[in-house]
Amino acid sequence: MYFDKMYQLNPADFKLLGYAIVLSDFIDIENRSDYDNDVIMCNDTGRCQHCNKRIKHHVAIENTANGDVIAVGFDCYNETFVHGSTRELNLHRARKAADRKWENAVKRQAVRDFRQQHVSFFDMLDNYTGRNNFVEDIRQKSQVYILSDKQMDAVKAAIAKEEEWKESQPKLVAAPTGKIAFSGFVKSIKWVENRYGGTLKMMVLTDDLYKVWVSVPSKLGQVEIGDKVEMTAYLSPSDDPTLAWGKLRA
Ligand SMILES: [Zn+2]
Repeated sequence: MYFDKMYQLNPADFKLLGYAIVLSDFIDIENRSDYDNDVIMCNDTGRCQHCNKRIKHHVAIENTANGDVIAVGFDCYNETFVHGSTRELNLHRARKAADRKWENAVKRQAVRDFRQQHVSFFDMLDNYTGRNNFVEDIRQKSQVYILSDKQMDAVKAAIAKEEEWKESQPKLVAAPTGKIAFSGFVKSIKWVENRYGGTLKMMVLTDDLYKVWVSVPSKLGQVEIGDKVEMTAYLSPSDDPTLAWGKLRA
């Protein structure tokens, strides 16, 4: 492995020996085909000996300082070893870094312009409070990329569908307090440990559209999620106005 010390590597130390083009997806000597009369096979690891990335085709170069022959990928060769001196290599890298900086600035500006052109869409996206992972993913991407029409349409459809679902859900009302007879459906059941051992609790969505968290009364026998129940309990308020804590006895 040749370490890429930016200000030390001198590409002038390396001599091009030849290259190998691999026609098969597998790194396999038999399947290598030479397009170059000087082709040199010197790497069976399938990795670039400069950056250690996986490579298929390779360029063989000799380190004239010590005679080592190594294989690097075409990209590494063109980016690093093709230059005539350390100075040229560093110049190339500095220019690339500057180009990248400029490109990023242009990209950021393009994203800002795009947002300006789609104000209502981004108002909707930025104020989205749902939990759709796809919408969340697109929201993050939109900070850096320009969205395609397809992505925007998909987001609009996903949000519309979620709104529709929300609309179709029962609108809960504030729960009453005191001794209340109610009926409703069991939404969930949970065994809750306490110092007397434990008690089976259930969440009931009442027919009047508030929720009650209460112990399952023994007279109801076995209850299951989805069962219709009818009972009386002493209700007291919770932090959520639509949910009451229920007690079987005052
Ligand atoms: Zn490499």
